[in-house]
Amino acid sequence: MASINSNFLKLKAGYLFPEIARRVKAFSDANPDQAARIIRCGIGDVTEPLPPAVVKAMHDGVDEMADRSTFKGYGPEQGYEFLRQAIVENQFANLGISADEVFISDGSKCDTGNILDIFGKGNTIAITDPVYPVYVDTNVMAGNTGDADENGAYANLLYLPCTAENGFVADVPTQKADLIYLCFPNNPTGAVATRSQLEAWVAYAKANDAILLFDAAYEAFIQDPAIPRSIFEIEGARDCAIEFRSFSKNGGFTGVRCAYVVIPKTVTGKADDGTRIPLHQLWSRRHSTKFNGASYPVQKAAAAVFSPEGKQQVAALIEHYMGNAKLLREACLALGLQVFGGVNAPYVWVGCPAGLSSWDMFDKMLNEANVVITPGAGFGAAGEGWFRISAFNSRANVVEVCSRLKSLIS
Ligand SMILES: *Cc1c(COP(=O)(O)O)cnc(C)c1O
Repeated sequence: MASINSNFLKLKAGYLFPEIARRVKAFSDANPDQAARIIRCGIGDVTEPLPPAVVKAMHDGVDEMADRSTFKGYGPEQGYEFLRQAIVENQFANLGISADEVFISDGSKCDTGNILDIFGKGNTIAITDPVYPVYVDTNVMAGNTGDADENGAYANLLYLPCTAENGFVADVPTQKADLIYLCFPNNPTGAVATRSQLEAWVAYAKANDAILLFDAAYEAFIQDPAIPRSIFEIEGARDCAIEFRSFSKNGGFTGVRCAYVVIPKTVTGKADDGTRIPLHQLWSRRHSTKFNGASYPVQKAAAAVFSPEGKQQVAALIEHYMGNAKLLREACLALGLQVFGGVNAPYVWVGCPAGLSSWDMFDKMLNEANVVITPGAGFGAAGEGWFRISAFNSRANVVEVCSRLKSLIS
């Protein structure tokens, strides 16, 4: 009989979003009169349609595929040069990143999970808590953890607690770690790291010969010009960091699928015999073997994000979502709740009213206000007592959510 990867059995069954969906369905079935009233501010998915410049470019790409003279079959596994070049020029100007250090993919979720392919066993993995669940679960699948305890914390992972006291930005640990996942602007807390906080992380990585896995999926939402948008803005990061970026949240590509990883050629890891090997070389080999490139019309559409019209249209989308975030943030503050995020990120991270756990608050919001939020505990033990409201919605829905919050709590 074929044996299985038993690490999968360590995964906790109640993954956050299925559990939310289950509760929403149970409520709707029991209360059909209220089902249509439900507003979803739970899952982090965009709501607004693709920017017109992106739609046009995707149509053009399809037309090229429909004509023998412009048809394209397999493209380069690492992505088309036109897109890699546009990314470097528009997102990493003056940061010393070259186009061949950019690898195009079909999503950051896959990239942040797949990256473990190129790392060995026995690394100490540091993960912030609360956190985007993908980082934890992919390490469980890869066999980098022991079993989960009753709170859902896995043995052998180094958890870095993020709390109101540290502003939800993890402090550099005193222990040594080999791989550290950082996500700024953060999902779920909306926290951003200052330049000096990121400098501390780069210094830690260099001192410990560690690698920073920096997820910048929400970079476009940063409003404060003093906040770094890329880890490569920090001196020395080219020697110790990998950055993940996606078109999902800026261009609204969650249903289109396009993202990229930046791996400077100067980032290395250690082989069994102690020699230093560039990670770039390994990822390039992995990508060529296990991936056949993102679709051509999609890469054309992604490049249109950097056209003059595309930039304007994306800026308008971000302004829309950040306007929502501001309304949600102010509504929660006016109710006397503790609020983080929502300033440089599309997530508002709110302290539960006294005495309520984050799942209590979830149920209260669903049952009494017909609003779906995300319970903080679903992102890790340190998320208990908090909930996340997503700003990805129409303005009308957000205004309605603010008013329902007010009637619910005041
Ligand atoms: C949405 C999101 C991404 C993007 O994922 P895609 O697979 O590119 O859609 C990456 N990281 C975090 C933390 C996210 O919330």
